[in-house]
Amino acid sequence: MIIPKNNRLTSDEIAGITAIVGAFGCRIQPIVGDVRTVYAILGDERDELMINRLEGLEFVDRVDTIQSPHKLMDIKSALASHRVKIGGITLGEELLIMAGPCTIDPANPNYFYETAHAVKEAGAHALRGGVWKPRTNPYAFQGDRRSLDILMEGSRRTGLPVDTEVMDEEQLRLALDAGVRILQVGARNALNYSLLRQIGRAVAGTPTAVLLKRGMHTGTLNEFISAAEYIVNFGNPNVMLCPRGTQPALDGYRNHPDESITPLLKERTWAPVVVDPSHSVGKAVYVPACALAAVAYGADGLCIEAHLNPSQGLGDDPKQAVTPAALAELIIRAKAVHALRRSGSSATVTAS
Ligand code: PEP
Ligand code: MN
Repeated sequence: MIIPKNNRLTSDEIAGITAIVGAFGCRIQPIVGDVRTVYAILGDERDELMINRLEGLEFVDRVDTIQSPHKLMDIKSALASHRVKIGGITLGEELLIMAGPCTIDPANPNYFYETAHAVKEAGAHALRGGVWKPRTNPYAFQGDRRSLDILMEGSRRTGLPVDTEVMDEEQLRLALDAGVRILQVGARNALNYSLLRQIGRAVAGTPTAVLLKRGMHTGTLNEFISAAEYIVNFGNPNVMLCPRGTQPALDGYRNHPDESITPLLKERTWAPVVVDPSHSVGKAVYVPACALAAVAYGADGLCIEAHLNPSQGLGDDPKQAVTPAALAELIIRAKAVHALRRSGSSATVTAS
């Protein structure tokens, strides 16, 4: 819908607009009002270049689009019946719990193995563990290739699938060759389309899933969903959206917790939402409340940093990893909230 600056467009202006939209297979239809006339765009109005050209016209006030910009991810798309399955859990039916340390310590593999057993015992369905680490400070520990073997050994010992972040094509190849079942795209790479493209191509037609974190800046929901669509577009719909807090931080928390966007995502897209409360709040003591809030808001799963002995961990673990005991209690409560939500009122039914 084109809203002109003046009450109506002149015939020259209409000719200019008709030429622009015509190049994209569209036409315009005036909707004449008592005071002003607006112009509906008939046809597929999703082309960003067309919108940019229209918005660039000095006699156009704004352009409102009503079609979803993401055809594949739309809640009404043919993929809406697709279900992502991880570790025996069908997302959307049962609550998925992924847990494990922020960063695997290559010098102390037993920490990972013991943590892996402990989080399984606590009720986790998948393990997380950072092999390669994006850091706020580039001189901080950036991970170690040897940790990939430790990650996979933890997977073998527990029988749980593993999630790890990849940041480039080499890491992607190594992770897939090793048998990583869930690839994580981190907040710092959320809009790195060349990485998303490489991942999309590499996982096309495989059961591998992708956990796509939300970018750290307060990006729009459409931007988040469109990034997911870019992966799905290559032929693998096993993508999970992961709100993880945005910047600027809320004073006292590491980020601005954003689990409350879950119902908005679920209204627009069929993709499951797996919230990361750990990076959202950044302190272990606040993680359970954020996790429960996420489930109440409609999350299909949680990805939680947990460590057998957080103070001895690397990366984020000393400040934000919960212990296996805290995780076990959190899971019991999160499942209770999940059950309550699913038994729910009409208000929560739309979000589940
Ligand atoms: C992580 O999961 O450890 C991590 C670095 O996450 P994010 O990309 O959300 O900061
Ligand atoms: Mn972390």
